[in-house]
Amino acid sequence: MMITRIIYNADRMLAHDNLNFKLFFNKKKTSTMPPPPHNFRNYFTLTNNPNNPTNAIAVCNCCIRKYGGLGIAQLKPECCIVNRAHLCRTYLSKCEAFRESYSEEEVKKILALPVPEDKKKKPKKRQRH
Ligand SMILES: [Zn+2]
Repeated sequence: MMITRIIYNADRMLAHDNLNFKLFFNKKKTSTMPPPPHNFRNYFTLTNNPNNPTNAIAVCNCCIRKYGGLGIAQLKPECCIVNRAHLCRTYLSKCEAFRESYSEEEVKKILALPVPEDKKKKPKKRQRH
């Protein structure tokens, strides 16, 4: 009798610990892990956004090359975008310097890269390629 009761309690404690661990892990994951870089991150250089510290400004690498430096490009509104995957993709689809820097094939391939925000909001929209 006594032993089964102890085992029962131990099981309950384990389950409880496991739950606590999961909660702790989930909390840690959402609060301290930086978001993974999106697929268009390679085509931009990030700078701090003084108006909104949570959204870094992405400066287009092709524009930086075209205009001769980050310092120049980041002052041009047409070379900068908030660092969000879907905004960056829209930006690249319109940026002349980007289209000049890559072949038509590469531009198509890069613009077809999935955007994480797409998956969350519209899971069925991007099945056709
Ligand atoms: Zn650009």
